[in-house]
Amino acid sequence: MGGETHQTVKPKSSYPVRSAHPVGQWIPDIYKSRIAQFYAGGQYEHNNLRAMMNEGVTSGSPHVKLSVWHAPDLTRPTFKEATKHEFEETRVGESFGPSWSTHWFKIQLTVPLELRKKELLEFHWDANNEGMVWTEDGNPLQGLTGGGDRTEWILPESFRDGKEHTFYIEMACNGMFGNADGDSIQPPNPNKYYQLSKADIVAVNPEARQLWIDIWVIGDAAREFPADSWEQHKAMKVANEIINAFELGNQDSIIKGRKIAQEYLGKNVSSSKVYETGTKPIVYGIGQCHIDTCWLWPWAETKRKVARSWSNQCDLMDRYPEHRFAVSQAQQYKWLKQYYPYVFNRVKDKVKKGTFQPVGGSWVEHDTNLPSGESLVRQFVYGQRFFESNFGERCRTFWLPDTFGYSSQLPQLCRLAGMTRFFTQKLSWNNINKFPHTTFNWVSLDGSQVICHMAPAETYTAEANFGDVRRSVTQHKSMDQDETSLLVFGKGDGGGGPTWQHLEKLRRCRGMSDTVGLLPRVHMGNSVEDFFDSLEKRISEGLDLVTWYGELYFELHRGTYTTQANNKRNNRKSEIMLRDIELLASLASIKGNYKYPKKDIDDMWEAVLLCQFHDCLPGSSIEMCYDDSDELYAKVFETGERILKELQETLGVRAVENPKTKERLAALNTMPWHRRDIISLGNGQAGVACGEGNLLNIKTFKIAETPEVTAKEVKDGVFVLQNDQLRVEVDGGCITSLYDRVAEREVIPKGGKANQFVIFDDKPLYWQAWDVEVFHLDSRKVLSSGATKVVQSDAHQVSVMTETKISDKSWVKTCISLSAAFKGQQSYVEMHSEVEWREDKKFLKVEFPVDVRNTEASYETQFGIVRRPTHYNTTWDMAKFEVCCHKFADLSEHGYGVSILNDSKYGFATCGNLMRLSLLRAPKAPDAHADMGRHNIRWAILPHQGDLGSTTVRTAFNFNNPLKLVQAPKNLDASAFSSPIKVTGNTSLVLDTVKRGEDDEDVSRGELMKRKGKSIILRIYESLGGTSKGTIETTLDVKKVWKTNILEDDGEVVNFKDGKVDITLKPFEVATYRLQL
Ligand SMILES: [Zn+2]
Repeated sequence: MGGETHQTVKPKSSYPVRSAHPVGQWIPDIYKSRIAQFYAGGQYEHNNLRAMMNEGVTSGSPHVKLSVWHAPDLTRPTFKEATKHEFEETRVGESFGPSWSTHWFKIQLTVPLELRKKELLEFHWDANNEGMVWTEDGNPLQGLTGGGDRTEWILPESFRDGKEHTFYIEMACNGMFGNADGDSIQPPNPNKYYQLSKADIVAVNPEARQLWIDIWVIGDAAREFPADSWEQHKAMKVANEIINAFELGNQDSIIKGRKIAQEYLGKNVSSSKVYETGTKPIVYGIGQCHIDTCWLWPWAETKRKVARSWSNQCDLMDRYPEHRFAVSQAQQYKWLKQYYPYVFNRVKDKVKKGTFQPVGGSWVEHDTNLPSGESLVRQFVYGQRFFESNFGERCRTFWLPDTFGYSSQLPQLCRLAGMTRFFTQKLSWNNINKFPHTTFNWVSLDGSQVICHMAPAETYTAEANFGDVRRSVTQHKSMDQDETSLLVFGKGDGGGGPTWQHLEKLRRCRGMSDTVGLLPRVHMGNSVEDFFDSLEKRISEGLDLVTWYGELYFELHRGTYTTQANNKRNNRKSEIMLRDIELLASLASIKGNYKYPKKDIDDMWEAVLLCQFHDCLPGSSIEMCYDDSDELYAKVFETGERILKELQETLGVRAVENPKTKERLAALNTMPWHRRDIISLGNGQAGVACGEGNLLNIKTFKIAETPEVTAKEVKDGVFVLQNDQLRVEVDGGCITSLYDRVAEREVIPKGGKANQFVIFDDKPLYWQAWDVEVFHLDSRKVLSSGATKVVQSDAHQVSVMTETKISDKSWVKTCISLSAAFKGQQSYVEMHSEVEWREDKKFLKVEFPVDVRNTEASYETQFGIVRRPTHYNTTWDMAKFEVCCHKFADLSEHGYGVSILNDSKYGFATCGNLMRLSLLRAPKAPDAHADMGRHNIRWAILPHQGDLGSTTVRTAFNFNNPLKLVQAPKNLDASAFSSPIKVTGNTSLVLDTVKRGEDDEDVSRGELMKRKGKSIILRIYESLGGTSKGTIETTLDVKKVWKTNILEDDGEVVNFKDGKVDITLKPFEVATYRLQL
C-alpha cells in the first residue's frame, strides 16, 4: 500500500462560492391564485391578458346599422314571413320581450377600413337570450346564446370589401334554460325583457386568445394535479413564467408566453395535429348537445334550439377537423328536416363524412319507467326506421344520458333493435348509493345483455375542462377490466353543444399528456361506435366485464312516477287505444277492402312517443309543455276515435250506451283470451259477455232467488258487500275486513284498514316535480272519512260511496264496488275515486295492509315482472322506498297473494306487509299548477290463491280494457265471434300486439324497401318468468312464418302446419313473429 503518485484532476465548478441574493420558496397558494387573475375578468381585466384579446371594436351606425321587426303575439314566424315586414331602427341598449316573443333584426354591416386587414373578424351579439344568424337570402347559419355562452359569429371573408352587407338575427326571448328568474326550475316569468348589450364588429387577436386557453389549462394543472407530483409544480412554474413575460400592449410578449406554454403543452396544440402522435389514448372525447325535447321551454322552441345548436356544430367541424358530434332523437332530426332543410342538408353531409354521428336509435330520449313494453319497442322501430331511411344506417348504440332510471327489459329490446351498446350516466346522481361500475354487461330479465358504459366524468354536458379529463380516470370504477372511457362534452340540456373553447382545451389536455404526462390521454376523432367497437373487440379476445342484472334503479326522481297525473293517464289510454286500433285494423285490412290507416297510426304513435320524452311523461316540465302534450293527446284520441268508429263499421257493429233494445247486443273485446265479464246495459241492467274473439255474445244476467252480490249496512256506518267469493266489510270508508270465502282466509290483518287514504308532506331537497324524499314517510297523516252510503244495489253489482275531506279545498269521493262472481274466475274489489285536488306540496296515497308475508314484492314492468325488497335491510333496499309499477303490484307468499291493480298509476311502495299506491302529488316547480283540479282514478284489490300468476296478469289487462257495448246487425257472421289469431298453451304467454308489417306493399309509406304481399306481425311475451310453450293458431291463409326482431327483420323460418305454429318462449322473452299471407 502507498508509494504510488497520481496525476489528480481537480474538479472545476461554476457554482458560486457565495450566495448572490436570497431566494425564497414559492408559497403555492399565492402563486396558484395569481394564475387565474391573469386571464379572468374583474379588477385587472384592463391590465391582464384580457385587455389584449381584441385588436379593434366597432359598433353603432354607420358600420353596424340595426333595425327590428317584432313578431306579434308570441308567434315564431319563418324567415320568409318575417322579412316581408317593415323593419324599424333600433340600437344597443334597447330591451326586447316579453318572454317567448320573437324579434327579427336586420343588420347592415360595413367593416371599417382599419379592421379590414385584421386576421380574424367576428360579429359579437349578446342580448342574454338565444338567437340565430340568417343570411340575407334566408339560410340559417349559426346559433347564438347570450350571457357569454356563444356570442360570436365569424364574419365571412366577403365582408372585408368595404361594402355594406346585410344579414339577420332571429331573437328568441328565452335563455338557454327558459325564462325563470334566478332559480331555473321555478315556473317561468311570463314578462321577462332582454336588453341588447352588444352588437359589435370585433377584430380578435388570435394569439392572445390561444394564450388564454394555454394558461387556463396549465392553470388547471397547477390547481388540480396532486401537490406531491412534479407535474403540478412544473405547471405552476410555467404559468408564472408566462405571466412574468407578459407586457400589456406588447404582442411579442404574447408570442413569448405561447413559447413558454409549449414546455408544458407541446408544440402542436394549435391544430388537430396534436392528436396525431401515435401514443395510446384512454379517454375518447365526443361532442354532445343534450336538447331536452321539452322542459323549461315548449316544443316550438326546441325546434329552433335544434337548428341553432346543430348548425353551430357543422360550423365547428369546418374549423376543427377532429370534432365529432353524437346526436340522438329521431324526432329532432325530423323537425330539422321539416323546418330547416338547409341545416338538415348540412347535417346530412357531415353524417356522410362521419363527423356528425346519429346515435340512440330511438324516437326521443324517452323515459323508460313508464312507457308500456310496446311503446319501448316503437321508440326503436320509429327511431331506427328514421335513421335508416334518412342516413342509410341504423344506430348501434342506445343513448339515454339523462333518463330517470332504466327498465330491466331494455337490454333485450336493444338487442332486438340491432343495438349491442348502451350509454348513460344519470345514475351518478343517485343520492343514496354510489353505482359501482363504469363499463359492464347489463343483463335483461331474459338474460340478454348489452355493453353499458357510464361516462366516469359523470356528466353529459362536460365543459371539456382539465378536471373532466382527469375524472375520466379518477372516477373510473371498472379499471380492473378496462381503463378506456368516453368524455361527453358540450353545452346541453338547453342545447348549444361544444364551443371552440371546448375543442381548444381538449387539444391542450392531449398535448399535456404527451409532453409531461400524468393526465390521461384524451383523443378526438373517434366515434362512439369506434369506442364500443374496440371494447367489443377486447371482449371477443377474452375481456370479461362485470355484470349487472335487472333494472338500473335510479335513486332519485321517484316523484316522476306520479307527477302530472293527467299526462300519465293519457299515455296509458293512448297506448291501449293504439293496441286496439292496430289489432282491429290489421284484421280488417286482411279480410276486406279496408285500407290499413298507416299514416294515422304513425302520427298517433309519433305523438305518443314524443310525449314519452324524459321530461314530459315523468312530469318535470313547465306548464306550457303540458298544454302542448294535452293538445297532442287530444288529437291522438280524436284520430283514434274516428278510426275505431270506422273499424266498428267494418265489423258491422256500432257503439251504444243506453240501448233501447236488448236485441243483438254484443261486447267489443280486444283481449287475446277467453273472457267473461259483466257489462252494463244501462238503466241498472247488466249482461254477461262471454267468449273469445273481438265480439263477445251477451247473455242477460240471471237473477236467482237471492241476488248474486249484496250490500248491507250491518251496523251503524258498517257495510258488508258480499258475493260468492268475497266478503268485504267497509267501516269509516275503509275496508276493515276482506274475507276470501273460497280460500277461507282473511286478507286484511287484524286492525288493518285497506283503502285508507293517507297524505304526506312532500318537500324534497330541491327537485320538486322530480323528487319525493325518504323523509316524506315520517309525515304520514291518516285522512278520516265522512259517512258511507250505498249508491248501487243491483243484482250484478253493489257499491258504497264515501267522501273523504283532504283539506278545505280538496276532497275525494270513493266508490267501493263488488260485482257478482263467476265460478272459477277470481273476483276483486274495485275502487273508483273522484278527487278534487288543490294541495301545496302534499302527496296523496292509498294503503292496503295485507296479511301476507314476503321479503320481496312483485311489480309489473314492460314485458315482465320486477321483484323488489319489502324491507330496508341495506341502503340499496331502502333506496327503493318508492318504485315504479305498471298495471299491477303484487305481494304473495307461498300459496296466496294480493294484487293491487290500477288504470293509470305508476308509483307504488311495499313496506313489510303494507302496500301503498301513489295517487297524486302537488309540486309547484317547474309547473306551478301541476295536478291541480279533478281526477278520476280506478284501482282494485285482487286476492288470489296460489303465487302471482296469469290471473293477475290477465285481470290487470282486462281491468285496463273494459268491454265496449255494441249493437250488431241481424245476420252477423258467426266468425265475427271467434278470433282469427290466438295463442293457446301456457297461460303466461301474452299476445300483446297484432299489427301489419311496416313494409307490406299495401301498408308502407315508402321510407324503406317494400315487401310483397300482406303480413301480420305478432308480438308475444312470456309474462311470469318461466319457459313456456304454446301454439299460435290462425284461420288466416298464412303461407310462411318467420321469427323476427322488433324491427321486423326476418330471422329463422318457423314451422307452420295446419294453421298452427308451436312456440317456446324463454322466461320473460319478447318474441315477434311475421305471418306472411
Ligand atoms: Zn334531459
